[in-house]
Amino acid sequence: MPADMHIHTTYSDGGSTPGEIVGMAKLLKLEAIAITDHDTIAGIQQALYAGVANGVEVIPGIELGSYSQGEEIHILGYLVDLSDRLFLEKLAALCEARVYRMKRMIEKLQELGFPVTMEMTKDISGRGSLGRPHLAAAMIKIGAVKTIFEAFEKYIGEGCPAYVSRYKMAPVEAVALIKSAGGAPVLAHPGLNRPGYLLEDLIKAGLAGIEADHPSHSTEQSNYFKRLARQKGLIATGGSDYHSPGHKEGNRFGMTTVPYSVVEELKKRAG
Ligand code: AMP
Ligand code: ZN
Ligand code: FE
Ligand code: FE
Repeated sequence: MPADMHIHTTYSDGGSTPGEIVGMAKLLKLEAIAITDHDTIAGIQQALYAGVANGVEVIPGIELGSYSQGEEIHILGYLVDLSDRLFLEKLAALCEARVYRMKRMIEKLQELGFPVTMEMTKDISGRGSLGRPHLAAAMIKIGAVKTIFEAFEKYIGEGCPAYVSRYKMAPVEAVALIKSAGGAPVLAHPGLNRPGYLLEDLIKAGLAGIEADHPSHSTEQSNYFKRLARQKGLIATGGSDYHSPGHKEGNRFGMTTVPYSVVEELKKRAG
């Protein structure tokens, strides 16, 4: 039975609640799913409850954004101890950095004449990870733009007038953090950028796997990363990176899955 190991919810920039995601997984007869929101575990508890109620195994996960050589590198973390103090402190710091950055972006938009406010973006993001997609939604709400794409293109994308960068860890730091919290760190969608130069250092820091199967990877890329995983003694994982039907990459829910044995391997590496 298949498992989808990369899914976003409304707790970051996904369109479905954890409960809805579990319902969709049940319909597709997935045996296990991992909830991997950006920089937050706020949706995990809700997903775990729904999973128990619906007979779908929910694997707690996270997708940490990190930064190296001008590129964003994403590190997935599975089965972390959700009460690990150091881990929670770091997530709180990331959350604070997102709030600080959002305030500065809102100031810039206000200077440009758009009446967006912090309250509007916080209302949209709820308890989850505050990000630019929420700001884009606020801009649509006030009629400043018609689409999220337009908001990114004109105002909040990198290099645009209201863009402000936010604090990000180094990839090795993200891997070490997940490892120290008892989780299994996995390099996300390596085909989207070129993180090959980082691999040896990430392995030294405790990397457990690479996400070989991802909707953005060609068959050749998936095969290449599976071979690489085998060579390096890493687990080849995979997932759909589902956000919502309207998301820019258009990944369908459950379109990329892996055999349940991947979950078992991750469990062996965690802890
Ligand atoms: P943030 O983490 O606040 O910097 O926002 C990054 C998120 O914005 C990504 O996870 C994407 O989901 C979304 N995003 C980035 N660029 C675009 C774009 N051009 N159009 C729509 N969404 C985007
Ligand atoms: Zn996302
Ligand atoms: Fe990602
Ligand atoms: Fe993702």
